[in-house]
Amino acid sequence: MRTDWQSIKERLRAEFGDAAYKSWLAPIELDSVSATRAVISVPTRFMRDWVQRHYLDRISQMLTDGAAAAPAVEIVVRSAIRAPDAAKAANVEAVGTLSAAARARPRPAAPRSHEDISAPLDPRFVFDNFIVGKSNEFAYAAARRVAEAQTVPFNPLFLYGGVGLGKTHLMHAIAWHIRKADPNRRVIYLSAEKFMYQFIRALRFQDTMAFKEQFRSVDVLMIDDVQFISGRETTQEEFFHTFNALVDQNRQVIISADKSPSDLEGMEERLRSRLGWGLVADIHQTDYELRLSILQSKAEKLGSQVPSKVLEFLAHKITSNVRELEGALNRVVAHATLVGRVFSLEATQDVLHDLLRAHDRRVTIEEIQKRVAEHFNVRVADMHSARRARAVARPRQVAMYLAKQLTSRSLPEIGRKFGGRDHTTVMHAVRKIEELRATDTSFSEDVELLRRMLET
Ligand code: ADP
Ligand code: MG
Repeated sequence: MRTDWQSIKERLRAEFGDAAYKSWLAPIELDSVSATRAVISVPTRFMRDWVQRHYLDRISQMLTDGAAAAPAVEIVVRSAIRAPDAAKAANVEAVGTLSAAARARPRPAAPRSHEDISAPLDPRFVFDNFIVGKSNEFAYAAARRVAEAQTVPFNPLFLYGGVGLGKTHLMHAIAWHIRKADPNRRVIYLSAEKFMYQFIRALRFQDTMAFKEQFRSVDVLMIDDVQFISGRETTQEEFFHTFNALVDQNRQVIISADKSPSDLEGMEERLRSRLGWGLVADIHQTDYELRLSILQSKAEKLGSQVPSKVLEFLAHKITSNVRELEGALNRVVAHATLVGRVFSLEATQDVLHDLLRAHDRRVTIEEIQKRVAEHFNVRVADMHSARRARAVARPRQVAMYLAKQLTSRSLPEIGRKFGGRDHTTVMHAVRKIEELRATDTSFSEDVELLRRMLET
């Protein structure tokens, strides 16, 4: 066995690079060496697992100069309470022992200030108010599991999805649930932005010890919108350590972001990979059914009798996210209450005209061309081509008609997008399709189907 640990570490650095070295290899210490056996140690259980998995073979080879058949190197977790200069070997605790000890050890009388750092929870964001559909059932089930579990089922729970789809709602719901079930468990919920703010403040006031203590003594830590710390290196560093410390002590960590761990740009690789280690659950865009159920439930809570055709209209039109959907419903209800009128489709359209227009603009002519081409089994290129054969001319006319109906583009603009055609050609197409729709029901249904597909 070799004992020149420093030079081995330098070789590891050269081999694995600075970043990996800094995160994983630098903290390793050589605790004891005999002729046949070496013991190395790392500060946390999490690091032990990682080093074991990724680097131990190589370290063994280096320590034994490649001589040993089986690795004779053991990796252990250094005791957190190790006396600074005591004989090293005596202070190395075997793996399972430490975690048991850590668990048994009474938690330091940490300041009960966690309620101060935790952001307030929205009383409406509870499980009972969360409507489950295809797009969110997995995330919902994972959230419930974490909320109800006595032991940590997966760590971290990583929730991701587009804006306004219920990530914050689910996190608050978990927090409410746990706080109610066991008021003694320390649950902290805060945005990544706030985390960063607190950290920077702690740095400024040279109070990082208290900051660390606050976060590292919680049972459940939830950080919302973690994409916010993209590109913020020091905050990421601190977050990473907090995160590891908690996971190591078997405390639940719950993270949300607008993207999956692997798609988070501006995040350090080691953090990204670490975030994906537990359970990753995504929330997809809502479908019509879910939107309608949400509206029905919200309308009921508002105590107003919104006709189902108004709800259906909203579910059909406001497809972006649940927040906008709620906003639209609130506006419609407020309007009806204020003006004292019954709800009608016309009034709804009127109240929401700006919102609806914004949505309509989202369908592009390119999408229309693509969908229509698919539907009629022609090439997208035929939308622009000069071919006049009915088999391609008709679909092209349908696409022009839909472009007129679904976008706010003018006739000349539409013409330009169809191979530089004249606006009169577009006008002719629109008339032709209207005519056909009036006389041919099955054709009309076809077009209607396309329109619906494009609108949602
Ligand atoms: P995110 O954090 O993903 O941006 P939020 O959790 O803030 O989204 O949700 C936006 C709004 O939509 C909130 O008012 C929330 O209550 C509501 N919401 C989202 N999904 C649902 C759902 N499945 N059922 C009921 N309300 C929902
Ligand atoms: Mg949110």
